[in-house]
Amino acid sequence: MKMKVAVWTGTVLCAILLAFNTFIYLTLNHRLIAVEESSLTNQVESVAQYQASHLDDEGHKQHSWTPATGFWLNEAVRQGEQLVLLNPQGKILVQAGTTDLTPNQIKTNFHPSPSLSPAAQVDTWHIAHKVYLTAIVAVTNESQSHLLGYALLISNAAGVHTYMNTLLVVLIIGSIGAVLLATVAGYLVSALAVRPINQMIALVSRIEASNLDERVEVPRGKDEVARLAATFNRMLVRIGRSFEQQTRFVADASHEIRTPLTTIQGYAGLLKRWGKDDPQVLAKAIDVINRESQRLQELTEDLLTLAGLEATVKQTSYWVHPDTVIQDVIEEMRPLHPELHFVTHLETEHAIQVPPVHFKQIMHNLINNAVKYTPAEGEVNVKTKNGPGWVEMTVTDTGKGIPKADLPLIFERFYRVDKARGRKEGGTGLGLAIVKELVDLHEGILRVKSVLGQGTTFTLRFPVAEGKDKENRPLA
Ligand code: ADP
Repeated sequence: MKMKVAVWTGTVLCAILLAFNTFIYLTLNHRLIAVEESSLTNQVESVAQYQASHLDDEGHKQHSWTPATGFWLNEAVRQGEQLVLLNPQGKILVQAGTTDLTPNQIKTNFHPSPSLSPAAQVDTWHIAHKVYLTAIVAVTNESQSHLLGYALLISNAAGVHTYMNTLLVVLIIGSIGAVLLATVAGYLVSALAVRPINQMIALVSRIEASNLDERVEVPRGKDEVARLAATFNRMLVRIGRSFEQQTRFVADASHEIRTPLTTIQGYAGLLKRWGKDDPQVLAKAIDVINRESQRLQELTEDLLTLAGLEATVKQTSYWVHPDTVIQDVIEEMRPLHPELHFVTHLETEHAIQVPPVHFKQIMHNLINNAVKYTPAEGEVNVKTKNGPGWVEMTVTDTGKGIPKADLPLIFERFYRVDKARGRKEGGTGLGLAIVKELVDLHEGILRVKSVLGQGTTFTLRFPVAEGKDKENRPLA
């Protein structure tokens, strides 16, 4: 990762610099040559003017020309320049200054222009892999009617070449330095950025059930890495919590299973020793073993239900008519509990989006609790009503109620308000946990209200299954 970022930074910068430097080099070269050409033009034009005026001062005939020589011509050329005066046929008359061109090379490349204009013309000569800048102007008499010859100024453009070579070296060294620096900086910055990620990788490979308390260091700021580290820590908290719950669940479950098993074992021992001779012991032992094995069976069934719930795939094609199911559950309970009054107000025609088997389990658990915790002559009241988009079910009893402090805890697995009371009455402590998980699974709402000594009301809401009002699906 670090190496990748470094290589990419270097490569991209290299490409950018290459394009940028080429642009600078070409533009500057073009500009300098233009300046050089304009300077040559000025020089050669003033030489031509001088020659013309000099001629007149000397009083020569205006159709022939002997160029003025001497100090002034040498003054007109700079280093690396060569000034050549030629007659109209291209014969060299006078020279001042030097380049490394021979008179022959000059003659071969010299092409006089037919124009008598006092404006110089520039040209570039490529001779033996070298470039020469030239400016040529016609020398005429003052009225510009008669061509006397030509003034040619040649420059080997040494200044431009030296300048451009220096620039090239500076650009190359500067670019290499910049690319190296950027690559190193890219490496260091990415090393800094991936440090928390490396920490996470190290932590993840270290983490086991025993050290879920460890946390990644969250870097300051709100960037992606900081958010990832914070999210990762939150995930660890959640995993830790669910791991704790699982451990507690296994411990509770084995405890719950061990209790009836111990009782069964104890009474089986009694039976073995005294059972044959003492009919009272025999009857008691059979009774207890029967009750406890029934409890074990219920417990196993509830545990299996809970384990299975997590794997349940939610399918929206399931739906059920609540009133029918509630009616069924009440009819099953009524003959078993003639000491209680069952009252129903079932007013909904709507179907709800819950698998029938799940809805029956929910209602069975709630009504069964109402029955279990309500004394004789008490009332168990079940109502249904319609709302906009939902159906509400309430199960109310006139039983002993639940203390306020216990209300938030009754949906936890194995929680019983009164442990001793619960076991004696045969509850597994899993009924409401199953109800809660099923309600959550099908996006329902579950509320409980209770007044100690007066009774308890469980309220349930489920979304309506659209378009299924009149039909009913048989219970699966
Ligand atoms: P249990 O198998 O013990 O009934 P549940 O999960 O169904 O387990 O209920 C948890 C606890 O909540 C019960 O032990 C009981 O103390 C209390 N409880 C549940 N329903 C009622 C109710 N209708 N009236 C009074 N107490 C209730």
